[in-house]
Amino acid sequence: MIPIMVEMPTVSQCSVRECAYNTEDACHARAITVGDGVHPGCDTYFGAEAHTHAAERRAGVGACKVSVCRHNDDYECSAESIVVGKSSNSVCCQTFSPR
Ligand code: SF4
Ligand code: SF4
Repeated sequence: MIPIMVEMPTVSQCSVRECAYNTEDACHARAITVGDGVHPGCDTYFGAEAHTHAAERRAGVGACKVSVCRHNDDYECSAESIVVGKSSNSVCCQTFSPR
């Protein structure tokens, strides 16, 4: 693999324990993608019984498609960090804030 050095906002907390990337309320994907244009859902969510073993890896926000969020700049998140959790029946970025 080629190492890619890039600064990203971190996923500081995620309470969606049924997601395969979640261990102890933290996301361990390399990077997540958020949103479908309007709704700030976590596109990387993957419900599974098995969970990632890479508990030392901290997730970043690789891309966000929610341009109506005030933290969004050119379809990227500019927040320092985000929190992900459940809202009604969906899994979403709780740091979302409309412009
Ligand atoms: S941030 Fe998304 S991918 Fe990461 S653990 Fe939470 S729901 Fe899963
Ligand atoms: S804070 Fe806003 S820009 Fe950042 S991931 Fe969440 S919805 Fe996207």
